[in-house]
Amino acid sequence: MGQRVAIVGAGPVGLGAAYRLNELGHRDWVVYERSDRVGGLAGSVRDRAGFTYDIGGHVMFSHYEYFDRLVDRLLGSDFTRLQRESWIWMRGRWIPYPLQNNVRYLPPDVLLECLHGLVDVQGAVPASASNFAEWVDVSFGSGIARHFMRPYNFKVWAHPLESMSKDWIAERVSVVDLKQVLANLVHGRDEVSWGPNNTFRYPLFGGTGGLYERFLPYVRHHLRLEQEVVEIDLERRVLRTRDGAEDRYDRVISAVPLPLLLRMLRPVPERLLEAARGLHHSSGLVVGVGVARPCPTTKCWAYFPEDDCPFYRVTFLSNYSPNIAPPGHLLLLTETSSSAYKPECAATIVDRVVEGLIATRLLEAEDLARIVATRVIEVEHFYPVPTLDRDRALAAIQPFLLHHGILSRGRFGAWLYEVSNMDHSVMQGVEAVDSILLGRPERTWRLPAEARP
Ligand SMILES: Cc1cc2nc3c(=O)[nH]c(=O)nc-3n(C[C@H](O)[C@H](O)[C@H](O)COP(=O)(O)OP(=O)(O)OC[C@H]3O[C@@H](n4cnc5c(N)ncnc54)[C@H](O)[C@@H]3O)c2cc1C
Repeated sequence: MGQRVAIVGAGPVGLGAAYRLNELGHRDWVVYERSDRVGGLAGSVRDRAGFTYDIGGHVMFSHYEYFDRLVDRLLGSDFTRLQRESWIWMRGRWIPYPLQNNVRYLPPDVLLECLHGLVDVQGAVPASASNFAEWVDVSFGSGIARHFMRPYNFKVWAHPLESMSKDWIAERVSVVDLKQVLANLVHGRDEVSWGPNNTFRYPLFGGTGGLYERFLPYVRHHLRLEQEVVEIDLERRVLRTRDGAEDRYDRVISAVPLPLLLRMLRPVPERLLEAARGLHHSSGLVVGVGVARPCPTTKCWAYFPEDDCPFYRVTFLSNYSPNIAPPGHLLLLTETSSSAYKPECAATIVDRVVEGLIATRLLEAEDLARIVATRVIEVEHFYPVPTLDRDRALAAIQPFLLHHGILSRGRFGAWLYEVSNMDHSVMQGVEAVDSILLGRPERTWRLPAEARP
């Protein structure tokens, strides 16, 4: 006790940490947030036309009882519950996700190629793959890899699959059970609700960010909005904001993207800046399109592996809550990734997205005159890419930070995609506080194997 805790970033990590500090009755803490709102990447933006845009489709998963109870407390009964319904648009048709369980929708030549590929890899050992590309080929066979997994994943990650590790996969990618594939094919059966999140809750008000706004009563007196931290003096344990104010700390909990955090440190060893070159990320263009007509489908979201549109995913956000769009209106939220491997022009993205929505039949030509709102949200740090060199970089950086009292956590603070969802991020904030105040080991965040004592 008695430690001053400075939190940098009022996204899920910072708010989770703040909530826990409050819960434990700790008094000496502060939250610095660069922008004028809370929520970070899990925040939402409202426009004057009455549409609320999330920063990409957000589905609330939970792996934690603590997180569930917290959401219960914050939302009360102000949520909707959705049955997950996800689809793939390919070969000019809708196919329920995951593809392998619904191959009966494919044209015969593609179906046969996919089945042959699946037969060829029976008995192969995905665990032996040395990167994500190999893992895809060995797990799905050449047909599904060629028609869906490889092009789709390049559209998402904007990085060569060969440069990515396979270690993040766990429950995030649906793998193949050939007997089930064949049974579904023979019986003409669909499987639409695969995965850990068959149903999910969504805030009734304010989009995904509505959840994070409800942390405000627990944080308000400690929150410094529009205060960007620009420098951290490791020797004096003082941080400085852009307006020149200084603040002493004992511990920092930071959700700032790791390479940017390193550049704030004084002094910072050159070897750490060098190590940070091993951390790769995609950027993103989230484009929302509001249309004056009701949503014609019950779909939640859809995946787009082909090149008939720039986006890799569209969320039918107006299906999530009646307060996302004005009554009788549709809000489509599209996500397009970019990187040096996959440049995207922001100036033309709205036009290309609208063309893509028509090409994929999400909009009809007549809908062009019904578009009443568009919004582009440019996101520099979109996905922390789990590349093969990531853990070596983290193993060099994180012990140094810990030694100086800095816990760098969350989607881009920890740079661990496998624990970068909202529940993971909130819990990394909670657990960081427990480790500082109660000496409890953190469970969600982990030190890369190469750096463990
Ligand atoms: C496209 C997309 C889809 C997603 N889908 C899902 C999903 O379906 N389910 C799910 O659970 N999660 C999803 N997520 C992940 C979710 O958004 C993150 O888990 C979460 O926002 C990460 O929280 P964080 O606190 O680590 O970081 P952030 O949300 O990035 O918050 C960091 C905060 O720090 C602030 N900041 C940065 N630098 C400074 C500084 N120098 N000084 C002061 N403040 C600073 C930023 O302004 C920001 O508010 C998705 C994310 C994206 C991008």
